[in-house]
Amino acid sequence: MTDYAHTRYCIETAAKINAARDEYQEKWPHHCKSCGGWGGTEYSFDPSPAGISLASGTMTDFEPCENCICEGICPRCGSFAENFEDETSTCSECGWKDGDDGIPHPNECCCYDNSWLDDGWLESAYEDNNGCGLEVD
Ligand SMILES: [Zn+2]
Ligand SMILES: [Zn+2]
Ligand SMILES: [Zn+2]
Repeated sequence: MTDYAHTRYCIETAAKINAARDEYQEKWPHHCKSCGGWGGTEYSFDPSPAGISLASGTMTDFEPCENCICEGICPRCGSFAENFEDETSTCSECGWKDGDDGIPHPNECCCYDNSWLDDGWLESAYEDNNGCGLEVD
């Protein structure tokens, strides 16, 4: 833990994400812990700053998780599913299929000691360039 002053945005977002993560964890207690139930890791080659939601034109690549999908195990419910190497397969237990969401990603906090800034400045900064990994509506 740090002593950094989190922005109101950061705190609210972290709380929201943590609640969503708890909910996922409760719903899918056996999800793959290495990939978080995503079935792998997505690599983005988007040149825009980290945290901005994928915009059109973003290059992404997906690396299947070695601990679940590559072993024929459903990333979400943890049950063994034959032929999971096939990218188009669907889990017969929970219906997970390639491309389905896993546990929400943790809040990427990039707060530093910004207590000298007032919230108004930060909010406009987030809107401009989304400094804290937040998704701006
Ligand atoms: Zn923060
Ligand atoms: Zn996995
Ligand atoms: Zn499943």
